[in-house]
Amino acid sequence: MIVALLHRLSEKLPRVVHRLSVMMKPQVVFVLGGPGAGKGTQCARIVENYSYTHLSAGDLLREERSRSGSEFGQLIETYIKEGKIVPVEITINLLKKAMEETMKADEKKFRFLIDGFPRNQDNLQGWNTVMDGKADVKFVLFFDCGNEVCIDRCLERGKSSGRTDDNRESLEKRIQTYLQSTRPIIEQYEKQGKVRTIDASRSVDEVFADVKNILEKEG
Ligand code: UDP
Ligand code: MG
Repeated sequence: MIVALLHRLSEKLPRVVHRLSVMMKPQVVFVLGGPGAGKGTQCARIVENYSYTHLSAGDLLREERSRSGSEFGQLIETYIKEGKIVPVEITINLLKKAMEETMKADEKKFRFLIDGFPRNQDNLQGWNTVMDGKADVKFVLFFDCGNEVCIDRCLERGKSSGRTDDNRESLEKRIQTYLQSTRPIIEQYEKQGKVRTIDASRSVDEVFADVKNILEKEG
C-alpha cells in the first residue's frame, strides 16, 4: 500500500517540480553605476560563474536602433548620443520581451541581471507599471566610481567600441544625466535597504571579488 503510494508520488514528482519551475517568478538584480563603471564587464564575469542572464538595457536599445524596420531607430540614436534617457515605453518592452524569451527557451533561466536600468524616475515608474508583481527585484548592485575614472575608461573604450557616445562631448552629458537622474534612483533603493555598493574604481579582479561575496551572501 505505502509502496504503491510512494511509487505513484515519485511518478508525479517530476511534473510537480516542472510546474513549480514554470511558475518561477523572474528574480531581478538591477545593476547601476556611472558610464564606464564596469557594469557590463562585471555582468559578463557574473554570468560565467553564476546562473544569471545578463540583459543590458543599453545593448537592447542599440540592437533595436539597428533593427531594420524599427520605428524607433532614429529616436534611440538621438537620445544615446545626447546622453538622454529613452522613453521607458520603448525600453520596458525590450526588457520584458527579452525576459520572456529567455524563460520560454529555458524555464530554469529566471535570474536576471538588468544592467543600466532603471536610470530615472520615468524608467522606475514604467517598471512598476509593467512588471509590478511579475518580477521580484532582489537588490541593486551599485558600481560606485568617480566621474574622472569613468570618463577615462569610456574614452579608452571609445578607441575600439564604435559607440557613438564614447566621446568627450557625449560623456559629459551622460555623466550629467547619471548625477541628476540616476543617483536619486539609487538613493531611493538605498532607503529601502536594497543597495549593495562596490568600489568600482579598482581592477576588474578586485571588484569581482567583492561582487562574489555579495552574490554568495544573497544566495
Ligand atoms: N539608455 C537609455 N535607457 C536605458 C539604458 C540606456 O536611454 O534604460 C541609453 C542612454 O542614452 C545611455 C545609453 O543608452 O546613455 C548607453 O547606455 P549603456 O548602459 O549602454 O551605457 P553604459 O552606462 O554601460 O556606459
Ligand atoms: Mg554598459
